[in-house]
Amino acid sequence: VYLSPAWFVLAALLTLAYGRQAADSEPVGVRYALGAAFVLCLLASVFLHELGHALLCRRYGVGVKAITLEVLGGYTEMERDPPRPGVELAVSMAGPLTSFVLGGLLAGVAVLLPEHTTGGRLVAQVAISNLVVAVFNALPGLPLDGGRAVAALIWAVTRDPQRGNRIAGWTGRLLAVGCAGGALAAYLSGLLSLPGAALVVFVGLTLEYGAGQAIWHGRRVARLSRLSAGELAEPIFAVPPETPLAEARRRSADAALGVADASGRVVAVIPASAAGAPDDTAVDALALSVTPERTISAGLRGADLLRAVQADPLGEYVVMSGQDVVGVLRAADLARVLRGGRRDRESSH
Ligand SMILES: [Zn+2]
Repeated sequence: VYLSPAWFVLAALLTLAYGRQAADSEPVGVRYALGAAFVLCLLASVFLHELGHALLCRRYGVGVKAITLEVLGGYTEMERDPPRPGVELAVSMAGPLTSFVLGGLLAGVAVLLPEHTTGGRLVAQVAISNLVVAVFNALPGLPLDGGRAVAALIWAVTRDPQRGNRIAGWTGRLLAVGCAGGALAAYLSGLLSLPGAALVVFVGLTLEYGAGQAIWHGRRVARLSRLSAGELAEPIFAVPPETPLAEARRRSADAALGVADASGRVVAVIPASAAGAPDDTAVDALALSVTPERTISAGLRGADLLRAVQADPLGEYVVMSGQDVVGVLRAADLARVLRGGRRDRESSH
């Protein structure tokens, strides 16, 4: 569990703002102490919200890498995407549901506490904060939890996970515009102070950024889904191990180079980084052996393919179909496909 560095800055600002507007009946020290207590309660609330997501993930066998907490929210990093739309839906709704239940329980406590006490007021404020977090996060646009739920439903209906992400990204953009427009209208009609309106606009900008990222990522993964690792792989021209580099290059006519054993099986590949080696170097001195970590299956595509090359995002991978070597896939070529360029061997020389 991580605390973002920005948390300390925003926590200090929020404590000050709380202390300034707290009831005048309290001594100054108490007001700021209450502000700090409120900020810490918010932190605990955000943590429980993220814990809701994280525990549901683990229940469905999706590992959780980290939870990062910020003042107005947090995020849970998963080890992989949820395997089915149903899991995505359950994981996305677990957070707002946790906040909703927490808010409800705290509201109950606040009602039971004697009226007009400092503690009662604080509990009521934390209860309202949790209910606001629950409702806001359930709004149907990415990057909010509600947007993930919408994306999961579209995924279930169309069987296309990326279409859900793109559509929920666009509804997220609409929400962002709504936030900014609503803040302006509320400020002009005197419902919101200038700092309050600025905060809502800031939330809108954060939404717009997250929605844009979701659309961008969805487009790229969709682009990558059209081609499998086997289709992206470059064929390997294999030579015997003692062949000097210059000779191997001449014979391969610029194809990707590999090393073959006596039976002609490809046992190693020459990385692109070997290009600067002296001409008389024997190829096996430059070769990377075909190890399980360097091997990916020809059928991989889309997000699974991206994940497979995460171990070494600039490296070379041997693409295998069963026991046969199909070719070599350079992660740099993959990056080019993601950017929208064509993988074109002729133009790269
Ligand atoms: Zn959430």
